Amino acid sequence: MLAGIRIVFVFLLVAAASAHAGIVITSARVWPAADYTRVTLESASPVKYQFLEVKNPDRLVIDLEGVDVNAALEGLAAKVANDPYIKLVRVARNKPDVVRVVLDLKGEVKPQMFTLPPYGEYGYRLVLDIYPLQPADPLMALLEKKEVAVPDVAKEQAAKPPELALDTTLESSASEKPAELAKPAEKPARTEMRTWKPEVSRLIIIAIDAGHGGEDPGAHGKNGTNEKDVTLAIARRLKAQVDADPNMRGVLIRDGDYFIPLNVLVAKARNVKADLFVSIHADAFVKPDARGSSVFALSERGATSAAARWLAKKENEADLIGGVNIDVKDVYLTRTLLALSQTATISDSLKLGKAVLGELGGINQLHKGSVEQAGFAVLKSPDIPSILVETAFISNPKEEQKLTDVAYQDKMAAAIFGGIKRYFVKNPPLARSRMASAK
Ligand SMILES: [Zn+2]
Repeated sequence: MLAGIRIVFVFLLVAAASAHAGIVITSARVWPAADYTRVTLESASPVKYQFLEVKNPDRLVIDLEGVDVNAALEGLAAKVANDPYIKLVRVARNKPDVVRVVLDLKGEVKPQMFTLPPYGEYGYRLVLDIYPLQPADPLMALLEKKEVAVPDVAKEQAAKPPELALDTTLESSASEKPAELAKPAEKPARTEMRTWKPEVSRLIIIAIDAGHGGEDPGAHGKNGTNEKDVTLAIARRLKAQVDADPNMRGVLIRDGDYFIPLNVLVAKARNVKADLFVSIHADAFVKPDARGSSVFALSERGATSAAARWLAKKENEADLIGGVNIDVKDVYLTRTLLALSQTATISDSLKLGKAVLGELGGINQLHKGSVEQAGFAVLKSPDIPSILVETAFISNPKEEQKLTDVAYQDKMAAAIFGGIKRYFVKNPPLARSRMASAK
């Protein structure tokens, strides 16, 4: 073995992939996220590959057997511009039947390479996730920077466990990615918000989850709108409205086009000590005339309707579509503590859902007049009231058009925020000390 080269692992996906099989990489995608960068190579048939980590200088090497160099592979180089970890991508035939993809790195990384079987519209996928050596959570950095300005919260800052404390790694990674952290959005009217005062002298944190992302586009509209884009647009508008309230902070769980596994979503909401968790989605149904908004909460026992059960199944499939490396799931699972009884939170979630549904009824027809319940994985946070909002039907051409309309996105965000405020008026948030002792 050559010095300095370490074979991490070799996967023999299929023995039938003979040399010179002429396997075509149909798509090469790069998804830079706040936490990691994902590179995906997709093909109609499985690819036999070898993955190597090489030092001095740091680079990652993927040898693909029986694959041809084509435009999709060569296009990878242009897609990594400004990536935080990848400096350069080179693609060339290495041996008669092997194409070598070399990723020159900007420094040492923690890579994970795995495969995903065909799912939905996707064929076979080779996935390379590139993590930094020191896991950065720019989301935390952003939130804590803002919190420092508030005296009461600054005091709590000192009492936070080490993994939540602001450190220089988070600071620097945040400053390197200004585009992802400072999204321009119009300031909404604040007349209503000024009248609302929380009972506690701390920031109330609303975790906002834009459904789907990256490899998982969610549902599609007839005119080509992807659910993941609409949910992010509404989530950003909701955050802007929440941030305009001096007592509240909106935290975007996802602020870009990348995929976050469902259990990581929950862990992130817990990490930022969110008071509420709102997951934003857009519904789809085979019949194009299905329409209206709905709100869901978690059910421990079972779905309140067959439709709710079907929807939960569909939304929970995100991990299969978006792609999760089963081997590393546990890293996040340990952070996702599901120790407490969820009963109290579900009753709060239903109250929150009812308040939001009431506001949504003012701007859109309601698909169902009451909060539905089903086993949504994304709502499984034991101590944070959580709802999933299906804003409208993206499969309905009229609602698809509305969902892409900026003014309507703002109205939708305002309705959700209106419901959140209505909920807090009747259910004031707990003081931090009580929350901490409840852990
Ligand atoms: Zn969805």
